Formats: sequence, structure tokens, C-alpha cells
Amino acid sequence: MTEDLARELELLREFGFTHLEIRQLPRTDNQEPTTDLLGELRNIVIACEKCRLSKSRTQVVYGVGNPSADLMFIGEAPGRDEDIQGEPFVGRAGQLLTDIIKAMGLGRDDVYIANVVKCRPPENRNPEQDELAACRPHIRRQIEIIQPRIIVTLGRFALQSLTEKGYAISSVRGQWLDYNGIKVMPTYHPAYLLRTPSAKKEVWADMKKVMAELNTQL
Ligand code: URA
Ligand code: SF4
Repeated sequence: MTEDLARELELLREFGFTHLEIRQLPRTDNQEPTTDLLGELRNIVIACEKCRLSKSRTQVVYGVGNPSADLMFIGEAPGRDEDIQGEPFVGRAGQLLTDIIKAMGLGRDDVYIANVVKCRPPENRNPEQDELAACRPHIRRQIEIIQPRIIVTLGRFALQSLTEKGYAISSVRGQWLDYNGIKVMPTYHPAYLLRTPSAKKEVWADMKKVMAELNTQL
């Protein structure tokens, strides 16, 4: 058994699986390609100096995935690995997110992954309100271009910054919210799951709601 597969099966067990149904979910790409608009926006964002994080970053972490994804995952801000590699969610928390996506029957290329803050806060400190505000137009424009059916926000900062509301993640996780007509499922950040593995079950319950919604006809 490959290391990847073993890790994924272990995660499924933690999610509470007792047996596996071997069936692929339908892929989620079915809209017009919007690569060019996303590419144009990328050129603007990678040159951005709208907040102090531009001074300390190695590189801007713009976003990756399917430009016409139905499902978008939005995190907080790049960490050390992301700052070096220029890609969101490639460190330890990223590996866990990748495993969650796989457990949903999807791959990183099927979905779109981005953060509400595109440059790494020094020492991985929390983003400041002015940094969140400065970067907010970038994620909003990415969403406008991609037009996902569903957004999963990972952790408090992603949810609060996107919606500009003071939601407590523990009270709204697992409940559908709305962002400009797009369904938003708030759930825990994978970095929190690394510290609190028992919360994986709740995240999996949230992802099951997302999968059920993805599979409903438009
Ligand atoms: N945590 C995040 O919120 N985003 C990343 O890209 C990596 C870790
Ligand atoms: Fe610009 Fe966002 Fe980077 Fe700040 S964090 S410099 S607003 S891209």
C-alpha cells in the first residue's frame, strides 16, 4: 500500500468511516474557461504592495486549481512553505487539506484553493485588520471570476474576512451561509485539526453536506 493511500485511509477512519464505497463523484468542471481573467488578475496581485506584508514576503501566493471550479476552498494566509513555493496549502496543514479533498473523491485540480491574505504574515502571526481589508478585493475578484457554486471557508479569518461579519466559527460551522448568492460552508482550519484531531469528524460532517450539495442538479 502506498504511503499516500495509507494516510488517506487513516484519515477516513478518523472521520468515522467503517466501510468504503468505491465510487467516484462526478468531476466539478462544467463552466466556461476563465483562465485569462484569472491570469490577468494574477499579474496585478503578484505586484501588489497595498499592505506591509509586501515588505516581508518571499512571493505572493495567488491561488491554484480549476479556473471554473464548482468548489472553492478559502484559507487564511500563506505560511512558510507556501511563501517559499508560491502555492497555497502545500505545508503540513496543506497536506491534510489535500487528503480531505481526496476523501471527497476530488483532486486539487478539480477545485480552486486560495487565501484571504496573499502574503505571509511574519512568523505566521494572525493577519491584522488593515491587512485583511487591503487584500479583500483580490479574493472577492477571484470569486467573481471563478463563480463557484460552493465556497468552503477554513477557519475564522477566512470566514470573517470574506463576509465582513464577526461570526464565531464554533457556532456557525456546518451551517450554510450566503456570500453574494454563493453557498458558503464554514468549517475548521486544517491547522486546527492538526492540533485537535478529534475535530476531524465535524469537518467531515461539513464536507458531506458540501458533497451532497455538489451532487444536486442545477
Ligand atoms: N494556511 C492557510 O490558511 N493557507 C495556506 O495557504 C497555508 C496554510
Ligand atoms: Fe497586497 Fe494582499 Fe500582499 Fe497585502 S497581503 S501586499 S494586500 S497581496
